[in-house]
Amino acid sequence: MRSHGSGAVSRRIPALLALILTLAVSSGVTAQAIPSPEQYFGFRIGTDRKLARWDKLVEYYRLIDQASDRVHVVEMGESTLGNPFLAIWVSAPENIARLEEIRVMNATLQDPRGKSQAEIDRAIAQGKVVFVQSFGLHATEVAASQTVAEVIYEMATHDDPGMREILAQTVSIFIPCFNPDGENMVVDWNERTVGTEYEGLGTPSLYHHYIGHDNNRDAFMLNTVEYGAQIIFRDWIPQGYIDHHQMGGYGARIYLPPYAEPIRPEADPIVWREMSWYGAHMAYKMEEEGLSGAVNAAIYSGWGHFGFHWITPFHNIAGMLTESASGRLASPLFVHPDQLRGARQLPEYEAQTTFPNPWPGGWWHLRDVVDRQKIATYAPLEIAAKNRETVLRNAWLKASRQTQRGMEGETKAFVVPAEQHDPLTAKKMVNKLLAQGITVEESTQGFQHEGRVYEPGTFVVSLAQPKRGVIRWLLGRTFYPDNSYTRDADGNPIRPYDMSTDNMAEFMGVRVDAVSTPVEAPLTRVSATLEPRGSVARGSHGYLLDGRLNDAFRAVNLLWNEGVEVRRFVEAAHGPHRPGDWWIPDAPEAIVQHVAQETGVDFQAMDVDGGGAAPVVKRQRVAMYQRYYGGNMDEGWTRLLLEQFDFPYTSLFDAELKAGNLNRNYDVVILPEDGLQTMTGEGRETRGGQDYPPEYRSGFGEEGVEALEDFVRAGGTLVTFSAAGDLPIQRFGLPVRNVVAGLSGKEFWSPGSTLRVRVDTHHPLALGMPDEALATFLARGQVYETTPTPTSERTDRLVTYVHRDILHSGWLLGEERIADKAAMLSVKHGDGRVVLIGFRVQHRAQTHGTYKLLFNALVSTP
Ligand SMILES: [Zn+2]
Repeated sequence: MRSHGSGAVSRRIPALLALILTLAVSSGVTAQAIPSPEQYFGFRIGTDRKLARWDKLVEYYRLIDQASDRVHVVEMGESTLGNPFLAIWVSAPENIARLEEIRVMNATLQDPRGKSQAEIDRAIAQGKVVFVQSFGLHATEVAASQTVAEVIYEMATHDDPGMREILAQTVSIFIPCFNPDGENMVVDWNERTVGTEYEGLGTPSLYHHYIGHDNNRDAFMLNTVEYGAQIIFRDWIPQGYIDHHQMGGYGARIYLPPYAEPIRPEADPIVWREMSWYGAHMAYKMEEEGLSGAVNAAIYSGWGHFGFHWITPFHNIAGMLTESASGRLASPLFVHPDQLRGARQLPEYEAQTTFPNPWPGGWWHLRDVVDRQKIATYAPLEIAAKNRETVLRNAWLKASRQTQRGMEGETKAFVVPAEQHDPLTAKKMVNKLLAQGITVEESTQGFQHEGRVYEPGTFVVSLAQPKRGVIRWLLGRTFYPDNSYTRDADGNPIRPYDMSTDNMAEFMGVRVDAVSTPVEAPLTRVSATLEPRGSVARGSHGYLLDGRLNDAFRAVNLLWNEGVEVRRFVEAAHGPHRPGDWWIPDAPEAIVQHVAQETGVDFQAMDVDGGGAAPVVKRQRVAMYQRYYGGNMDEGWTRLLLEQFDFPYTSLFDAELKAGNLNRNYDVVILPEDGLQTMTGEGRETRGGQDYPPEYRSGFGEEGVEALEDFVRAGGTLVTFSAAGDLPIQRFGLPVRNVVAGLSGKEFWSPGSTLRVRVDTHHPLALGMPDEALATFLARGQVYETTPTPTSERTDRLVTYVHRDILHSGWLLGEERIADKAAMLSVKHGDGRVVLIGFRVQHRAQTHGTYKLLFNALVSTP
């Protein structure tokens, strides 16, 4: 088998080849027929500047699937942009032939509740260690999606005793590319730029259609379709999981497990020991091979974001990360010795016990990464294979002990009451818990517990289950550690890797009660995803929708799509109607039925004339600024959110923005979270270094600022998220000051916390909100006070921080600086207004509890 050329002809060859190989295998020909990656792609994996595109990799994996009885390729579904998402099982043929049996034995160990000792003993005796490894999550970290092709080829074809032992004793599940869309984008970009002055630059736009580099922050809320969660959390809960990444190019050559300090507590301690064990063996094999620059227990703290490799320890999985040094995409990087730097727990770039063999500097090639990633992929399989029974017994032990801890701990369960401000959002949260493989139970009858009355339809999440650790962090209050691991030598707080809380219920505005005694009510396990269907009851004056539901906005958008008139109660309560409730005086029955089914929103009978208390509400024409320079993840997440709720919008790029006259086409312009200079592009000329091709050098300059101010003065609404508020504050001269601007970390610090706010629910922008809520606040967030002017009445403080005890979960220093200050303002400017939202109102499509503060700005107000 020779390598193929490029173009349309070669695309057909693999199918033919696969057919031939299928026939060959069935007639007893061995796996020697599988072409090596070098033969197949025409270059050795890891060759400078050369990358295999995802479509070619898919063809190659399908070919191996056909030719090898050790390899089983499954297409899990389509990626966001419609590319195939693959998972690849690799094991000995006799294991591949009984994967379902192995999966069931594995499930017995990972959740032994209700299993007999005999079943457990059999699963330990006859089961196999399951390891999931994922590659290419971050598309510009280009090596991993290439490395794995060579790994799978070798596992399919090599027959040395070591490989045979790995295959016999383990089942590997490879996710060979966690972001197929991004892989294609980056490979195409690389091919376009190699040999030009732009060689080695990252892509100019987000390399995941919606969420770019944040695609590793989605594991606990699962807003995107990429399918890792189903494998890792539900179908195959592995004993180990490794996500292979790349980091900067000027430090250690590869970071290996375990993590640095601090760690997030409450996993079973065995998982942390397993990470040390596997990581030590990875490093040991690196030294054996003479590969320098491997460091353990540094750089990446064990308390990170709740992405795949950091959430898995709480699923009782040794959830690990490798991070190799980067070149310039697929091109080599030259590094002088004095450019090499230390990091967390590697204070100097010098030999230490976890880093005995520093890399001396020089050229760093793609193949150097591939070599290290291969060892990091094989080493844990080798050690797990040699210790199969121990690993399986400890899988059972971890799950059993976590269940026991849940039984004995202070909090016995979290109760999600049926009565919620927004019950549909509570059901979405239950679905997210189910997606983690968490056992959720429902009470079909009302009950009382610890002095509270719960209605039928209340959900109970007991902590006496193996996933106790996940539940605790998703539903329990969280206080990030403030100690010598999280402060520098001068006492300055060190920024957590990501958020300082991941409390899903707090983000979503869902009430959850922690209870200290087991719930005794009759409960039934929720066995399938909740799909609420709204009811329809027509009254003499049409229908009423509950304004407290986020999904009411979706319903309204779907009604607007059909030309239906929508009215809304805006002032004080009118009879039984609350401000914010939606009134649909008339709509075709079929449309109403469809929207109720689709959204879960009940269409209640409206039997009185809402009259003037409920004016007509109109759809607004919404635009959102989008830039290049790698793209803006907050912009991408916001696109995703708007689409989830069926808000139409237009992405506004520099040329259209600078041309002005925005009022002609838009009523609302959103500036997602971003720095002022990044948006305007000012100061770029002084940055030096490489720049993007001219068509990707975004920045709307003074012209754009003027166009935005003209838009507002002429009646438009400008909505700014967090740091983007600098633009109207500094350039329009709004009478507003950001009180936390320029403060040191010791003076004010809140990196990814939930903070308590009061909401003026009579304000048109706060309709449907509860009086008290939690605002998700990140670094670069803003907090406002109005500066003295003769026209202060033109500024509305609609969301303000409470007076004291502001922190709910996370980490907050200097609360007195923000007490009673504004979290969100609406400032009239000319005939329009600027809506400044200093916290993260729609953060990562996770903060459902504050969505309405944004959505209200996207519909007309009287
Ligand atoms: Zn990465």
